[in-house]
Amino acid sequence: MSQGSDRLAYGLPGYATRVLEVLEGAGYEAWVVGGWVRDALRGAPSHDVDVTSSAHWTQAKAALEAAGIPVHETGTAHGTITAVVDGRPVEVTTYRVEGAYSDHRHPDEVRFVTDVREDLARRDFTVNAMAYHPQRGILDPFGGQDDLVAGVIRAVGNPAERFAEDALRVLRAVRFAARMGFVVEARTHEALVQAAPTLGDIAQERIGQELDGIVRSGKVAWALEAEREVMCAALPELSAMVGFDQRSVWHAYDVYVHTVHVCRACEEFTAGQASHALRWAALLHDIAKPNTFSIDDLGRGHFYGHPAAGAKMCEQILRRLAMPQDFIAQVRTLVRMHDHRMYPTARSTRRTLVKIEKACPGYARSLIYQLIDLKRADAVSKVDRAASYAIEADEITAAVRYELSKRPPLRVADLAIGGWDVIDRLNVRPGPIVGRILDELLIDVTNGEVDNTRSALLRHLGAVWDKK
Ligand code: ATP
Ligand code: MG
Repeated sequence: MSQGSDRLAYGLPGYATRVLEVLEGAGYEAWVVGGWVRDALRGAPSHDVDVTSSAHWTQAKAALEAAGIPVHETGTAHGTITAVVDGRPVEVTTYRVEGAYSDHRHPDEVRFVTDVREDLARRDFTVNAMAYHPQRGILDPFGGQDDLVAGVIRAVGNPAERFAEDALRVLRAVRFAARMGFVVEARTHEALVQAAPTLGDIAQERIGQELDGIVRSGKVAWALEAEREVMCAALPELSAMVGFDQRSVWHAYDVYVHTVHVCRACEEFTAGQASHALRWAALLHDIAKPNTFSIDDLGRGHFYGHPAAGAKMCEQILRRLAMPQDFIAQVRTLVRMHDHRMYPTARSTRRTLVKIEKACPGYARSLIYQLIDLKRADAVSKVDRAASYAIEADEITAAVRYELSKRPPLRVADLAIGGWDVIDRLNVRPGPIVGRILDELLIDVTNGEVDNTRSALLRHLGAVWDKK
């Protein structure tokens, strides 16, 4: 054991210390474990505190309640309760090991044990298998501190066995590595590749959570390159992109490698702050290319309709992964529009805004900038001569800023007249025709043919629509 609270970047918060004191005051042993220890050692923002204890959960509950601490039975089948101190939840779990995993996911049984080291040994990675106590220091039987310094994700024990027990660990390894900017240790990596197909046993929702963690890390390009087998097993649609020759003078890379470059470029252009939707859109923007490929008489490859087909696939994939619907709409819109032509003009800018707003109501103002970032990243990831688009993209961005500052109407509801004005002015009956006329009016305003003022719109209605 290394004494070493001095190695922590910050101390244990008081509410967690209180939980340890109450449990130990009642005669049990208790340690902080897992994510909090890892993150305090590496100076990352403070994490939820999880406690592991020799007390059976019923004993822990009794001791905490006797000290006036409210307790919720949040996972007693696995020995977990949640204590709430000063409004802060602390999970307390009985030292335990897990029995066989016949389905690669759920342990057939959970067995409570008396030695904290046994509990640490059932944990997934060395950096997650450390315990800390304010007086006793850090307990690190598997070299987690060394691996933190080396930047390595390493399975505790035999990696192949650990992944066979629980296939989700395959994706957790990549997520932790991506998030911390680590690599996966060689033997652990080999076992990951072997075990990747067993991700098929995992519920899509869980895969979605882990994949989303990888995407949110901003390091998905790294994950695609370094852990290709895992990424393709988690998202089988990616497999068809691997090695897919685009047969085009515009593309120096196959679809998969191009995608890696686009994901990386999105981070570069945003200083590592790409939005969540942009990150997913970069990953999925060309997902339909393999399905839409054709070759013309000159032997050139084409992918007609791939943005629309890609938007559809994107919707299916993200639904399957249980992502929220309004988020899916944003990603789908970016994918749908990634080849949409934009020019640094008022007309082009407004038309693009209206189109985005129609596809994803309420998001035009934010999505247009993300769309430009995606298009720019896409352009610099083709051949060198396509890269000059990055400069054009800056001009387009300036035009967007200027146009948006003028608050252009983005939808029919933003027009200075409404349905009743149309009915009065043109003497038409209420019905779908009114909506169609308003749609056309929005287009005319967007194209700069008429100003968005009441008098101009009424005049325009009379001049144009009376004659139609
Ligand atoms: P974060 O919450 O920041 O993603 P964490 O380390 O808290 O990271 P959790 O999934 O919340 O991760 O799990 C808490 C701890 O439980 C982990 O640090 C690890 O020790 C253990 N653990 C969680 N899931 C598994 C698993 N599938 N296999 C083995 N150990 C696991
Ligand atoms: Mg956690």
